[in-house]
Amino acid sequence: MKVITTIQELQKELAPYYVANHTIGLVPTMGYLHEGHQILAKAAVAENDVVVMSDFVNPTQFGPNEDYEAYPRDLERDARIADEVGVAILFAPSVEEMYPHQGGVTFEAGPASKILCGASRPGHFNGVLQIVTKLFQIIRPTNAYFGKKDAQQLALIEMLVRDYNMPVMIRPIAIVREEDGLAKSSRNVFLSETERQLAPNLYETLQVLQQNIASFNQKKAIEQIEAATKGRVDYIELLSYPDLQPVTSEDTQVILAAALYYENVRLIDNIIFKVGE
Ligand code: AMP
Repeated sequence: MKVITTIQELQKELAPYYVANHTIGLVPTMGYLHEGHQILAKAAVAENDVVVMSDFVNPTQFGPNEDYEAYPRDLERDARIADEVGVAILFAPSVEEMYPHQGGVTFEAGPASKILCGASRPGHFNGVLQIVTKLFQIIRPTNAYFGKKDAQQLALIEMLVRDYNMPVMIRPIAIVREEDGLAKSSRNVFLSETERQLAPNLYETLQVLQQNIASFNQKKAIEQIEAATKGRVDYIELLSYPDLQPVTSEDTQVILAAALYYENVRLIDNIIFKVGE
């Protein structure tokens, strides 16, 4: 596996694949890889001639008081993990390489970016769409892999590709969990010992809420999650998916999505399911 840090070198490496009309899989990540990222990469390896994983903590998707500086980073470890699952190129650019110019064209995502995570992270999804667009332009992947863990991000990327006619197939991948149900996340390292023990109760409560979805009540749901996790709920919402609108009797697929604050970390989780299942 090659670790590449410049756009020029990456495009030189990919040139023969374009010429041969080979398929290119892209797995965008912010690094500090875990099994969730590995599953995305494995799917990409199975479906493409060559796989590029990007490893870049994107500053434009972090707000001023968020954890950009503290976000865990370990490129050497990431390179080992990516290599193990068959990634051919790990693209790990510097911030200067990705953003050499200031004050140019930026993205303004629509209403679906202002709810759920977007409500407490203003501008977050504008940054996500910016970096994803840049990666698509630089790499020109045939297929790009995204986890359902970040379901709102996935929905917005699907909208981006649809609205801007981007020639890439988006491949959604199911959430990978720890044995006790906690969704794997690079940020789980910020949980205290007690928080780590209580955190799986978020998913457990979401499952209970799913089973009783006909009587879903947001206020009660907040109380249930806070009692079970001892965290502070940022949001718990039931919406249609992937449109992220209030649920009507027409909707068949819905998302039950939640975000939870602990002392040094904010966790997200969700269940996407068909109504009546
Ligand atoms: P991140 O490095 O957290 O930005 O995540 C990179 C990609 O991996 C995103 O598409 C995430 O949705 C996906 N991902 C992260 N954690 C998981 C997980 N536990 N299960 C499935 N996909 C995940």
